Amino acid sequence: MQVKYDKDVNSQLLADKKIVVVGYGSQGYAHSNNLKDSGFNVTVALRKGSSSEEKVRAANLQHQELEEAVKTADLVMMLLPDENQAEVYKDYVEPNLKSGASLAFAHGFNIHFNQIEPRSDLNVFMIAPKGPGHTVRSTYQEGSGVPCLVAIHQNYTGDAKEQAYAYASAIGGGRAGIIETSFKEETETDLFGEQAVLCGGTAALVQAGFETLVEAGYAPEMAYFECLHELKLIVDLMYEGGINTMRYSISNTAEYGDLTRGKRLVNETTKSEMRKILAEIQSGEFAKEYVDDCKNNYSRLQQLRKQDQDHPLEEVGSQLREMMSWVKKKPLVDRSLN
Ligand code: NAD
Ligand code: MG
Ligand code: MG
Repeated sequence: MQVKYDKDVNSQLLADKKIVVVGYGSQGYAHSNNLKDSGFNVTVALRKGSSSEEKVRAANLQHQELEEAVKTADLVMMLLPDENQAEVYKDYVEPNLKSGASLAFAHGFNIHFNQIEPRSDLNVFMIAPKGPGHTVRSTYQEGSGVPCLVAIHQNYTGDAKEQAYAYASAIGGGRAGIIETSFKEETETDLFGEQAVLCGGTAALVQAGFETLVEAGYAPEMAYFECLHELKLIVDLMYEGGINTMRYSISNTAEYGDLTRGKRLVNETTKSEMRKILAEIQSGEFAKEYVDDCKNNYSRLQQLRKQDQDHPLEEVGSQLREMMSWVKKKPLVDRSLN
């Protein structure tokens, strides 16, 4: 697998192009500010009366209403929630985007699951940063970046791939590495990663550990530190040098416990459930379930979200973090900015 860096990329390819970023959420905030700081001509496209307008203005970014912005765009990056993209594409992008322009995504969901079937006279590609939007911005500002995946679905003008690499480099991806993949591979692995390991698996593991200690009569504060706070310290070690570096740093006692107990929790039964989760993604069953829930006013999502927001772990955590001023000194997520 070939990894490319800034030195391998011709970012001048986008120098005279009008780049339109649709949406100013987690990724929209990061892409538009990074593109601007890299010297590109970027316009944020907003809905009429958008609540983000104030924040966009405060960041000194150009902005236009959706339809107007798309009409003169050379490249449109769709950074709306996945479930809203098909409608916005159909109503505003498809009728207005000029022939030969580029349509870009940060995740393959809509193309891979056929929610959007783009006009054939467009380039269609993906630049998917492998990290949360807030990190795409904060790492860029620190001089580093988040690795990016690129994929090409339609190459109408012949330089779609070069444009995708140029865009990835402009948002900081070329500092960490840019890898080419397909819409299918990115979509399926991204959904699996967030469901089984990064978000679903980790959150459930932390909650179950916390509950086990509290139900056994230990103080919730202790349980919070053990099962959540320390997780970051452990993951930082893994991030720096893999599981080996983490095991080098922890005590022999911890390492023995890790090696003898970990696989009792995550075992063949867990892996067989992981394979089921992957199969639901591959068959489109998960995508259908999610899109149906969105159409039903996010009924299931809202109910489950509410349930977890009130978990005792969150309450004790917010009290404890008040005492750790450094946790909030340079927050990754600042809700006043985006
Ligand atoms: P988000 O929910 O944070 O933000 C979406 C923005 O779009 C919001 O500002 C919202 O107000 C706006 N919006 C919603 N409907 C709109 C409409 N009809 N017209 C105009 N604006 C509208 O979204 P996000 O998490 O940044 O996700 C954007 C894309 O990036 C998705 O494809 C997602 O899969 C992908 N992605 C996200 C992350 C992440 O860190 N959140 C990481 C990698 C890829
Ligand atoms: Mg994802
Ligand atoms: Mg210990």
